[in-house]
Amino acid sequence: MKITLTPNQNPVADADRAAKIAEGGFGKYYTDNMVVAEWSEAAGWQDAVLKPYGPITLDPATAVFHYGQEIFEGMKAYTQPDGSISLFRPEANAARFARSAARLALPEIPVDFFVETVEALVKQDRNWVPNNVGESLYIRPFMIATEVGLGVRPSNKAMYLLIATPASAYFNPTKAVTVWISTEYVRAAPGGTGEAKCGGNYAASLVAQKQAATQGCDQVVWLDANERRWVEEMGGMNLYFVKGSGDNATIVTPKLTGTLLPGITRDSILTVAADLGYKVEEVMLSIDDWRDGVASGEITEIFACGTAAVVSPIGAAKSAHGTWMTGDGNPGPITGKIRQTLLGIQHGTIEDKHGWNKRVC
Ligand SMILES: *Cc1c(COP(=O)(O)O)cnc(C)c1O
Repeated sequence: MKITLTPNQNPVADADRAAKIAEGGFGKYYTDNMVVAEWSEAAGWQDAVLKPYGPITLDPATAVFHYGQEIFEGMKAYTQPDGSISLFRPEANAARFARSAARLALPEIPVDFFVETVEALVKQDRNWVPNNVGESLYIRPFMIATEVGLGVRPSNKAMYLLIATPASAYFNPTKAVTVWISTEYVRAAPGGTGEAKCGGNYAASLVAQKQAATQGCDQVVWLDANERRWVEEMGGMNLYFVKGSGDNATIVTPKLTGTLLPGITRDSILTVAADLGYKVEEVMLSIDDWRDGVASGEITEIFACGTAAVVSPIGAAKSAHGTWMTGDGNPGPITGKIRQTLLGIQHGTIEDKHGWNKRVC
């Protein structure tokens, strides 16, 4: 597979692009180009094309519209102090995309080729990568089932697309988010698609997100499907709990049981926290542990993590069982330290000991 470059001949003018980047936010403006590749069962993957960003035309009977056979990824490109641009662990996104594809009966894209398409788009649209720490170019690879017809079966055609949008901080990092622990709805059940990054998981979660908003909360926290007891994730992010304080703190995160999405940020923090000298554990953590831990003061900080927001402190948790505060409701020092360290590695201001950054251009 190769990539044919037919880039946009009328890119957004410099001043307009700079204004759009400076406006900040997430997902309002897209770069000048996108990448598209098509697959069919008969012919396999065709060469990818990098071409001007724009609408795609699909038959109304296209499979993805009816049965939701779709997967996606989320990753970022960061400007480095020397002006170069790096991706953070892109092979990890590629590998997860392939696992998601397998679960959704979509064709897998070779890891190397996935990374090549991301590099091609970042290179072409490098002027769209913001410069400040905390800002980045957010890249959204996705794949849809494109067979036309209403029969329910794995699609014999698929389309892979890659788009990118300049991003500033997703949540305000100095403000703790409040969460609604849902005991009514679940995100994922054993044997389901919880481990895959697919749009369907999000579609099923929106009603709970609405409920959280009605409760005055920013985000939903998901419990396990069987017992509604074990803490899994927050919205589209993984969770961390800090026990104790100072250098002797232990940092724990819910264990991957098959119903949690294995976040690359989660995985990176396991390493970063250990590098900082903290004890790190993957555990089963119940809502009772959460309630009792914050009540006794054993749990001192809670935060969520993911590519989009990096690290977000969590303050109050509300559920059918009551409201629990963590600390004084403000972001804690260990949360801040982990956030700063990870951002520093991504932006090249802290040594990248694990070879996570991949220089693109
Ligand atoms: C994408 C995602 C995450 C975070 O994964 P990262 O690789 O860290 O961005 C966590 N939970 C869900 C449900 C997700 O979709």
